[in-house]
Amino acid sequence: MPFVPLLLMVFRIGRLGAAISLLVLTVVGTACTAEGLGPITPPGTGIGTKLQLFQLYLVFATLIALPVATELKRRKLLFSAVQEGAALHRIIADRSGDIIMAVDADGTIRFASPSLSVIAGFSPAAVTGRLARDVVAFEDIDRVIRAHRNAMADPAATVMFEFRAHKASGELAWFESHARAISAEDGEVTGTVNVVREVSRRKARELNLARAAATDPLTGLSNRRIFTAAYEDAIADVTACHGRSYLALFDLDFFKRVNDRFGHATGDDVLRAFAAILKANVRSADTVARLGGEEFGVLFDGLSQVEAQEACERVRAQFAAATVTAPDGSSVATTVSVGLAALREDRSLAEALRAADAALYASKGAGRNRLSIAA
Ligand code: GH3
Ligand code: MG
Ligand code: MG
Repeated sequence: MPFVPLLLMVFRIGRLGAAISLLVLTVVGTACTAEGLGPITPPGTGIGTKLQLFQLYLVFATLIALPVATELKRRKLLFSAVQEGAALHRIIADRSGDIIMAVDADGTIRFASPSLSVIAGFSPAAVTGRLARDVVAFEDIDRVIRAHRNAMADPAATVMFEFRAHKASGELAWFESHARAISAEDGEVTGTVNVVREVSRRKARELNLARAAATDPLTGLSNRRIFTAAYEDAIADVTACHGRSYLALFDLDFFKRVNDRFGHATGDDVLRAFAAILKANVRSADTVARLGGEEFGVLFDGLSQVEAQEACERVRAQFAAATVTAPDGSSVATTVSVGLAALREDRSLAEALRAADAALYASKGAGRNRLSIAA
């Protein structure tokens, strides 16, 4: 019977309750045992034996009360630690300028912090329960899935990746995410936690720099560096597909005279006019570059000789018919000479350029405003 109030005291007051209860039990129990009233009074035993048995009884009560009190104390500490942790997580998630997202192993968004509405215009409830791949731009779905899997495969690593997604306003924005695996107590990885930040402005800057490094500022065409890289790709295609690709070199005729007569600015206008005609007469897959001065190159990727020849001929004829108006009102007309050479897997870019240049030289020699094909 005394065990019920003993345990009640332990649950209410913890270890102090256990100590008080045991003390009361010792005093009352000893007095009662001495009087022969219990709690342990086997008939026919002397007072010494009764007290000894009572001592055993006390040891038994202590062995029950103290571990229970210790376990209760441990749970209390654990509970307040969990509460503190949860409060801290709430503060971090609510106040962070970044979006914090928890994503399940199957890609379902389990949690999104309130900053999602500030940054992207969606309430966290609008994305919770949806698949992450459904909120990411189509082009970046594979990259996001790969990063999620990589983060889950290596719980010690933080995986950084970039992706595009539409904001509520419809604007396509760039985001950078740092993903890390979430592990259950048994070590099983249950998903990832992602700290997501918008990087649209940085991305635009990077893209502008990359574009500036790849283009000729006067005409907006590719520069020689991109032309060289495109040549490597075209040669790889020729090798892999046994296809045909052609390289054309264009050089404006008597261009020095344009500059001398109408000024450098008008010469620039002529270069821009030629670039526009060139661009308009090739496919988007072809690389069009200003290789320097008034010299341009086109890589016709996977085109027959007749098709490449026709494209060059169109450019030549359109440019011959085009005029640019000089500041003094006069019409500036000029022509272009072309050299065309086939790409071969055993031909380096320098060799291909030399072959096309020889054909171009032949065009110049034959009276300009014409196309020649390299042997
Ligand atoms: P050809 O028919 O033999 O090619 O004669 P050409 O006068 O075109 O030959 P040349 O190579 O001697 O002259 C090229 C001229 O192009 C010389 C240079 O002043 C001019 N030029 C080079 N770059 C630019 C540029 O960016 N803007 C302008 N306006 N002129 C340029
Ligand atoms: Mg020249
Ligand atoms: Mg020239």
